[in-house]
Amino acid sequence: MREADGIDGADRTMHQARERLRTVFGFDDFRPGQADVIAAVLAGRDVLAVMPTGAGKSLCYQLPALMRAGLTIVVSPLIALMRDQVAQMTQQGIVAASLNSANAPAENAAAYNALRDGSLRLLYVAPERLVMPDMLDRLRAARPGLLAIDEAHCVSQWGHDFRPEYLELGRVRAELGDLQTAAFTATADAATRADIVAGLFAGPPTTFVFGFDRPNLRLAMTPKATPARQLLAFLDQRRGTSGIVYCSSRKKTEKIAGQLTEAGFDAVVYHARLDKAARAAAQDRFQREDGVVVVATVAFGMGIDKPDVRFVVHADLPKSIEAYYQEIGRAGRDGLPADTLTLYGLEDMRLRRVQIEDSGAPEEQKFVERKRLAALITLCEAPRCRRQTLLAYFGEATEPCGNCDLCLGGVELFDGTVEAQKAMSAIVRTGERFGTEHLLAVLAGDETEAVSRWGHQRLPTFGVGADRDKRVWRAVFRQLNALGLISMALDRYAGWTVTPAGWAVLKGRETVALREDVMVAAPRRSKRAARAEIDTSAADPALLDALKALRRELAREQNVPAYVIFPDRTLIELAAARPRTLEAMHAVHGIGAAKLERYGAAFLDVVLDHAEAGDGLPDEQGQTTAAQRHPPA
Ligand code: ADP
Ligand code: ZN
Repeated sequence: MREADGIDGADRTMHQARERLRTVFGFDDFRPGQADVIAAVLAGRDVLAVMPTGAGKSLCYQLPALMRAGLTIVVSPLIALMRDQVAQMTQQGIVAASLNSANAPAENAAAYNALRDGSLRLLYVAPERLVMPDMLDRLRAARPGLLAIDEAHCVSQWGHDFRPEYLELGRVRAELGDLQTAAFTATADAATRADIVAGLFAGPPTTFVFGFDRPNLRLAMTPKATPARQLLAFLDQRRGTSGIVYCSSRKKTEKIAGQLTEAGFDAVVYHARLDKAARAAAQDRFQREDGVVVVATVAFGMGIDKPDVRFVVHADLPKSIEAYYQEIGRAGRDGLPADTLTLYGLEDMRLRRVQIEDSGAPEEQKFVERKRLAALITLCEAPRCRRQTLLAYFGEATEPCGNCDLCLGGVELFDGTVEAQKAMSAIVRTGERFGTEHLLAVLAGDETEAVSRWGHQRLPTFGVGADRDKRVWRAVFRQLNALGLISMALDRYAGWTVTPAGWAVLKGRETVALREDVMVAAPRRSKRAARAEIDTSAADPALLDALKALRRELAREQNVPAYVIFPDRTLIELAAARPRTLEAMHAVHGIGAAKLERYGAAFLDVVLDHAEAGDGLPDEQGQTTAAQRHPPA
């Protein structure tokens, strides 16, 4: 019967865990994966959890830290993240502290004191500090119960986030008496996982790998037509929210930031050439304030832990699908709808090809890079659900998502064999050496200077494409390229050649389906609401503004980021449910006991003031809240 007792015991423990989730953190339920990981940690097992960014990894050690005796040591390389988490824990009434080089000496001294008197539940430590010799003695004296290692992939020497101190963590674990260890990362590949297991654990840990999908992120990719205007149109609909615009060069970040500032946006630039202070200032403003747009190179990202980033735009083609995924992953970590947009063009693709060929990398590396670029181009020109195409790249099969441009816009495929043949015959008849612009002139029947110089106006292909706009022909070239029917030379003329697969179409042995929608690159508006945890449309905008103003004020007083007070979702739910009592407030997402006591009255005042000032209230608070939490799928 011991077995059954054990299972009952585990049930009881998880029941308590849910209870704490509600009362302390103010969350309704676990996110996918959290319950499994927490159950394993509470059962005393060593755990390796691979969970995508925003999945809620921190909770997987924060919650057990509350429920068990002993100190939880959290190792994290990201100082900003450490400070935020300590601030958040403190707000929730949990005794937490951090030790790192950015702390004032007094802060570190206070942390050491708390460590000594045993009041501390969580101690966040930078890895270089953890490996200092006197540190181990102090920790041993504090009787630690769990070692939580964040960003565990930093132990892998092959990754770009490698931190040498992480190699010492296995020894630290052993010296702390083979302390129970839980390691977390968002990097999923098997090689990295093997490095983590070998480097951090004594034996194989219980391993969880959770999916890559981030259903609240809307995916969209659009060919560049009038890029500056396309970008502004997108941002215009999102004024006042925070987001990132990634550009392929430093110069371009400055140009776009200038345009955005002129258009009335609060835009800041970020790239690796800025001095350290300027970079820190940009990052800090973005992290703390609402509505800042960072225009950045890919240097911006690691260490950004802002849950309410509402959009990520790629103003140029990203470097790879992995990079794209990581970069868009910085949006919507709070689970609320967030938007992404990638603008891409043939010129981007050509530049990437040239970069690969000129990189000086060994041939096998170039081969891999070429394949990765081809996969990225295929994603841009995907004929089906974009998320299906994206997740398929990571080896996950899924249903059409309903939250990407292709699902929402409905992709029309048409038999493009004739168009493909016209384009490819223009390539072949001109000798497979000319780039897109010249071929477009030939197809359109433009007698340009180059056309007459080469006598191309005498070709049978001359003018056969005059019935279609040049933009259409550009899209045909991109799609034929994505389908592997034509291929671009890597010199500066970027001449097109026809591949063997292309010849099969040209000779009429194969047909080809092309996408209708990209043939005219007009921005489209979405038809359906995003799939996300809650429906944001029920929130009263005026009340929401008032709640945000109060949050801003409190955040400024305490010198913490706004979301440390309450996340967006809490304010949105308050603005929708408009609770009239403190008890009703407690039912709202993100309002645990400590925060209710600290801020409940102040926020309730705003809600009540607003009710007096205005329109009819929903009559049953509890029901409105519940409906908010369970929107129709
Ligand atoms: P990760 O480290 O996996 O990227 P975080 O731990 O920073 O993610 O969590 C992302 C956000 O999700 C945080 O704002 C956190 O408060 C929130 N969160 C975590 N767990 C839950 C949950 N069960 N319900 C609602 N929100 C949650
Ligand atoms: Zn889709």
